[in-house]
Amino acid sequence: MTTRISHWIDGAVAQGSSGRVGPVYNPASGEQTGEVELASADDVRTAVASAAKAAAEWRNASLSTRAAVLFAFRELLHDSLDELADIVTSEHGKVHSDAVGEISRGLENVEYATGVPNLLKGGFSEQASSGVDVYSIRQPLGVVAGITPFNFPVMVPLWMCAGAIAAGNAFVLKPSEKDPSASLFLARLWQRAGLPDGVFTVVQGDKEAVDTLLIHPDVSALSFVGSTPIARYIYETGTAAGKRVQALGGAKNHMVVLPDADLEMAADAAVSAAYGAAGERCMSISVVVAVGDSADPLVEAIARRLPDVTVGDGAKPDTQMGPLITAAHRDKVASYIAAGADEGATLVVDGREADLPADGFFLGTTLLDHVRPTMSVYTDEIFGPVLSVVRVDTYDDALELVNSHEFGNGTAIFTRDGGAARSFQYDVQVGMVGINVPIPVPVASYSFGGWKASLFGDNHMYGPEGMAFYTRGKVVTSRWPDPATSTVDLGFPRTR
Ligand code: NAD
Repeated sequence: MTTRISHWIDGAVAQGSSGRVGPVYNPASGEQTGEVELASADDVRTAVASAAKAAAEWRNASLSTRAAVLFAFRELLHDSLDELADIVTSEHGKVHSDAVGEISRGLENVEYATGVPNLLKGGFSEQASSGVDVYSIRQPLGVVAGITPFNFPVMVPLWMCAGAIAAGNAFVLKPSEKDPSASLFLARLWQRAGLPDGVFTVVQGDKEAVDTLLIHPDVSALSFVGSTPIARYIYETGTAAGKRVQALGGAKNHMVVLPDADLEMAADAAVSAAYGAAGERCMSISVVVAVGDSADPLVEAIARRLPDVTVGDGAKPDTQMGPLITAAHRDKVASYIAAGADEGATLVVDGREADLPADGFFLGTTLLDHVRPTMSVYTDEIFGPVLSVVRVDTYDDALELVNSHEFGNGTAIFTRDGGAARSFQYDVQVGMVGINVPIPVPVASYSFGGWKASLFGDNHMYGPEGMAFYTRGKVVTSRWPDPATSTVDLGFPRTR
């Protein structure tokens, strides 16, 4: 028996008209557990029409009314942590505690957005000219859409919708078709929190749904998180259609380890950040850059930890690493391991040979040493439990390596030298930097985003830049003149 997963339009589950569906699996068993509807262009147009109607009303809700809905949503989400995490684990495969972690980080974005009365405060300049005051306001855009990846089915939608809705927009979510059920759970929570119908909408689907959103005249802005080729496509198509777009792409996150670092601590961090969520995080560490003498002891310390990583069903309490999202993705990751070995890297630990559950899309942990920058394991985002070690002689070599990579999402440096860490922070061409912190996902009061091929657009996501993205500025110049002083003056207005 498989579950049918449909759209959420106008505050209710809605069947689509396309007749097309996609399979949803439990990656830990390999079984198909659901089928998700794939929206037709007509389905998307119906959803956007409902959202546009709701947006016209929702912008009139007072800031304190919006904040009250967000507070209620925050409470419901907090109370549902375990239940929602079970849904994430059953379709994504990540371990339950990791699913709780992603929801908790998403919850922070909701908490930030509850401060909307403060966040939307404008500026005011009294007497900007004689008898003239000037002030700025920020207004919602109308209907905004979010297109999200499979790897964070709760957190990434919350990055977007919390701020978008707080700012007075209606939000249309097109979640990943690989793990779509969490989106409907969120929709029901929004409704229970008192959000008017139509302000949060879900259209399930694939390219057809996305392409319809990209050119729909009533969609003002698009937020995207996913792989770089699609991010580039979304940015180019959406902006050509006159929309505001922020499109976050892929990553290859380097962890630089200097010889003075505590190497046991660095090894703990590398293992946690490389293999957590089976490496299916955009902020996973996928390359360790071992500087100078650190290399041999560091590789040994990482390899020593790998037999203890328990791989299995994420729903079981002792599991540390779950399966990959699909069989096809597991096979693609395995093919990179083969390519790395063929191209001359040293296979220190081979995840293909691990003792793994018979069913499901599992792969063990892999460690490759002596990786060189020309190898595909280095150039490509693998998005699996594969850690490459590149050995370099000096700090400058490490910096140049990081800065030469196509991606610039996250990076980290491990050292006891504050001066080296300060130089790294100053010179590295990456959007999010950790100093002795391997996964530097910014807290909700900052904004999330990479550089180079990891982000297309100007605004990073959530936090202050998220609020800027979901609103547009208006500046009012105001004068209440004494009619007795009124004259005709064809000159350009001057302030002095
Ligand atoms: P993906 O690019 O395959 O899919 C993302 C979304 O785009 C999905 O909703 C999907 O349905 C849609 N999509 C896919 N192909 C499309 C097409 N041809 N046209 C229009 N829409 C299309 O990404 P994924 O596999 O779901 O997620 C993994 C990727 O996301 C990795 O590259 C990872 O680095 C990236 N990611 C980045 C961040 C970040 O913050 N930079 C965060 C999470 C994930």
